[in-house]
Amino acid sequence: MGGETWAIVVAAGAGERLAADRPKAFVRLGGRTMLAWSLSMLDDHDLIDGIVMVVPEEYEERASLLADDLCATKIAAAVAGGATRPESVAAGLACVPESAAYVLVHDAARPLVPPEVVDRVVEALRAGAQGVVPALPLVDTVKRVGPDGSVSETLDRSALRAVQTPQGFPLAVLRAALEGDAAGATDCASMVERLGRPVVCVDGDERAFKITTPADLARATQMAREDD
Ligand code: C5P
Repeated sequence: MGGETWAIVVAAGAGERLAADRPKAFVRLGGRTMLAWSLSMLDDHDLIDGIVMVVPEEYEERASLLADDLCATKIAAAVAGGATRPESVAAGLACVPESAAYVLVHDAARPLVPPEVVDRVVEALRAGAQGVVPALPLVDTVKRVGPDGSVSETLDRSALRAVQTPQGFPLAVLRAALEGDAAGATDCASMVERLGRPVVCVDGDERAFKITTPADLARATQMAREDD
């Protein structure tokens, strides 16, 4: 199935663990802000028809100026996010038109995601998937640990995946998911899973890692330099 594909870039988090003097998405990575990286990749991507940016309150104008600087042509809106990630996604979704068949939700905190990941997510949506997440196998062994630090279980690593963004959904599915139980949801797919809809994995990419700490920012800066 064809139809327009829109992207919501969520960039409204404070990024406290980065300990910067501004919201994380506006911290510089290489020669531009973290937000600019994913915006320009999505704006250049043939499979993306429109983009909505979700930014901290009072950063809407700054985000629009940034889009102008990039000479981006697909960015339809810059809106303020909410206190939680699901609230920020909902604010972005309110700006996505009915003409959209599919919506990709991407963390601005994953600035170096390569365009091939978007290809894989959109391909799975067009093949009929209700929810698509880019995923990587885990390298570490994972244990369930109680509040006192005691290990209660070692999980079967071969059945586990670390998931990234962009995550993709048919517009109506994402809407229904956000109207449902969003409590504690750290990604969109978990809300779709709560609806009982199947979510599938496609291959993620190491370059789509999330920047959380100063060490992550240093790693991304190095990667961006190597790609130049
Ligand atoms: O906090 P976390 O690292 O899970 O955030 C993932 C993405 O969600 C980031 O790009 C962040 O800017 C965004 N976010 C948001 N609104 C919030 C919290 C997080 O847009 N209230």
